Amino acid sequence: MGYAAFDPKTPLSYFQFQRRDLRPDDVQIDILYCGVCHSDLHQARNEWSNTTYPVVPGHEIVGKVVAVGSEVTKFQPGDMAGVGCLVDSCKSCSECQADLEQYCNLAVYTYNSADPYTGKSTYGGYSNNIVVREDFVLRIPDNLDPAATAPLLCAGITTYSPMRHWNVSRGQKVGVVGLGGLGHMAVKFAHAFGAHTVLFTTSPGKVEDAKRLGADEVVISKDPDQMSQHLGSFDFILDTVAAPHDLDQYLMLLKRDGSLCLVGVPDHPHPSPSVANLIFKRRKLGGSLIGGLKETQEMLDFCGEHNITSDIEMIAIQHINEAYERMLKSDVKYRFVIDLASLQQESPRAEHASEEQPSMQINPVAA
Ligand code: NAP
Ligand code: ZN
Repeated sequence: MGYAAFDPKTPLSYFQFQRRDLRPDDVQIDILYCGVCHSDLHQARNEWSNTTYPVVPGHEIVGKVVAVGSEVTKFQPGDMAGVGCLVDSCKSCSECQADLEQYCNLAVYTYNSADPYTGKSTYGGYSNNIVVREDFVLRIPDNLDPAATAPLLCAGITTYSPMRHWNVSRGQKVGVVGLGGLGHMAVKFAHAFGAHTVLFTTSPGKVEDAKRLGADEVVISKDPDQMSQHLGSFDFILDTVAAPHDLDQYLMLLKRDGSLCLVGVPDHPHPSPSVANLIFKRRKLGGSLIGGLKETQEMLDFCGEHNITSDIEMIAIQHINEAYERMLKSDVKYRFVIDLASLQQESPRAEHASEEQPSMQINPVAA
């Protein structure tokens, strides 16, 4: 059972469904905590025009293993385990061979994808359990609080991966745009990697928090005077904003050969940036999608070693719709995490209690 959106406009509500039977290489997990990502909201409301309803969002999952298939070797019942945005991929293409499963053309997402084994839609972590192929299950460091670890499975890896790819390190000046779920993890990682870290925010009320989280400087992005003090000075800027905005104001802050990496995915495109801002200083504009399984485990282990977790506000699943509204107002400090114990209070409601949906196309390679 879980919570689902049944159309773009109606609040999420109770939904009863079955997970697939355990295959030999599957792990079954009882979900304890699930982070609330802005992508969940985008997809619940069909803002990316690709949602199959009902959709059970949630891809920042931490729980306890309760059963394993006969061929599973890395997990046993009782282990803590994590699941992020991916639950399967072809495992044979060049992307998968390079441990970049997120770029596999047959990648299967934790929700709103076709399950390669059943053809039905995958359902995410706003639920009490999940069945996932062993290769897509992560180990959770013992020393970390499980609830505050859940957001690492998406917000963590989505910010860690581009910073590793662009070699963020000591001696660099690095910007993070937006202090939400992704942004606050980006600030923690940039600080941990030793970079001089500058946060750009539209919310003056977040300045002190940003400094506490590791920012060396905080800039109010709506203030042109504050912005102009940083012209041509950044090696790398990670933009986590979930809404369309002017990219030129950040491109101009890069030094020669600097890079602006977009990870936010607004429902409408950003206005096109000026070509001149790119060519005159050979600047680069790029993007990055979550991270592969190997790098996600590396990130979790890094967080274990450096005691890094998310700053969270725990909610009952019954408050998910309110949490979405607060997320839209940039009022998240700094990730909502659902305590799935709250799901026990639900009693099945007849209108949404069955799992009637058409079969989806089966992924021919992974099947
Ligand atoms: P979030 O918690 O809502 O944070 C977004 C932050 O952006 C806000 O807290 C706010 O920070 C800033 N912001 C919001 N509206 C703005 C506006 N109109 N102008 C300027 N700044 C604004 O969202 P999130 O969960 O971090 O996700 C951010 C985006 O990343 C979403 O689009 C999500 O879908 C996407 N995402 C991408 C990937 C990937 O693999 N690339 C993975 C996960 C999520 P301030 O108050 O500090 O300004
Ligand atoms: Zn996410």
